Amino acid sequence: MGGHVVAIGASHAGVQFVAALRELGHDGPITLIGEEVAWPYQRPPLSKAFMAGSTAPDNMALRGPDFFDMSGIVTRLGIAVRAIDRARQQVVLSDGETVDYDALLLATGTRPRPWPGGPMPEGVFALRSLGDAACLRTAAEHASGPVVIVGGGYIGLELAATLRGKGGHDVTVVEAAPRLLARAASSDLSALVARRHAEAGVRLRTDVGVTEIDARDGKVVAVRLNDGSVLPAALVVLGIGVVPNQELAMEAGLPCENGIIVDRQCQTLDPAIFAAGDCTLHPNRFAGGMIRLECVQNAHDQARTAAAVLMGQEASYDTVPWFWSDQFGMKLQTAGLVEGSVRSVPRGAPEGGRGAFYHFGPDGCLKAVETVNMPAEHMLARKLLAAGVSPPADQIADPGHDLRGLLSKPL
Ligand SMILES: Cc1cc2nc3c(=O)[nH]c(=O)nc-3n(C[C@H](O)[C@H](O)[C@H](O)COP(=O)(O)OP(=O)(O)OC[C@H]3O[C@@H](n4cnc5c(N)ncnc54)[C@H](O)[C@@H]3O)c2cc1C
Repeated sequence: MGGHVVAIGASHAGVQFVAALRELGHDGPITLIGEEVAWPYQRPPLSKAFMAGSTAPDNMALRGPDFFDMSGIVTRLGIAVRAIDRARQQVVLSDGETVDYDALLLATGTRPRPWPGGPMPEGVFALRSLGDAACLRTAAEHASGPVVIVGGGYIGLELAATLRGKGGHDVTVVEAAPRLLARAASSDLSALVARRHAEAGVRLRTDVGVTEIDARDGKVVAVRLNDGSVLPAALVVLGIGVVPNQELAMEAGLPCENGIIVDRQCQTLDPAIFAAGDCTLHPNRFAGGMIRLECVQNAHDQARTAAAVLMGQEASYDTVPWFWSDQFGMKLQTAGLVEGSVRSVPRGAPEGGRGAFYHFGPDGCLKAVETVNMPAEHMLARKLLAAGVSPPADQIADPGHDLRGLLSKPL
């Protein structure tokens, strides 16, 4: 494959894809097109070290300008793709220019779910980009009143931890579900996280929804809840989830549901068009069906699969999903997918700040492992899940038992 490869979206998936193509020997032209003006950067620090002021954008680069120059990859940053003409194999840019492609990657990611109430007053933020994070950080530095975070998912809780822990703000998290992290974590981990936040002084309001955001003179002043309470607020952060950027694909006639539909080769219906990362709905054996994942692992591994398939290799996306979060000095890591698990076995002392929860499905097979400050155990869990090894409960519960031995035994 020596033709022109174009990638849309210059973030984790798009950058990994173009880098992998060169590694795998593609010697034709490559163009990376990204709507954001900033050089491609890592998104996870936005709610963690960057928000805490302990890292700068220079330390967050995915790849710097030198890499693209030396690899002969043309970057078009600060410009969006507005349309894909599949018949002509062209993309149309926001300035009207067209770019021909022989193969195309859609790595368009997601955007924050819009608040149903329409335009927001001053002091209300969502967090996705470096620009969003810089504005929120500045506003937090100047905020003289309480902070309300709407949504008790990972991003909302990381922000709560950073704004409370480093900024000393008065922080309330409002979550409509009965517990925190309802979508992504087990009830064991969610209870542990809730306790840690409460100990640190974060107010947690679960099982209650936000009905309105009140403003005075164009500035946010309060958040109203459906139990009748009113929370005064100088700053509100909406962490209510994301929606996939799939309109380009849909308008080009590519099947989409909650994401651009791809197969195990990361190919769309059109053999010349691949998709990778947060924007895809893909078959995943660890989910037992189609899923859209929002994590760096998925963006990187799908991008590498797409590049390998494009280079004619027999590749298929089949990696254990994994994810991490940092909150109040806890390194939380999840290998596998917790959803659908029916039994859990603790290991070590997760409540005490170092341990794990092993989760099993109805068939008795290991489905996921959540670790607290145990990176080596997390790495082991990824290997166990990839190999389909389910450790016996008594061995998990015995922290002195080295589970690594299970990997060397014949299955
Ligand atoms: C605050 C925050 C913290 C996070 N923390 C973690 C973490 O701890 N661990 C973890 O695993 N994951 C974390 N994530 C999720 C992780 O960042 C995403 O999974 C990852 O960024 C997905 O990469 P992507 O390339 O698929 O999409 P994105 O990173 O969303 O990038 C898509 C890019 O495409 C561009 N784009 C979209 N449409 C167009 C168009 N038409 N033309 C040109 N460009 C376009 C967008 O501007 C964007 O730059 C976090 C995310 C956020 C926001």
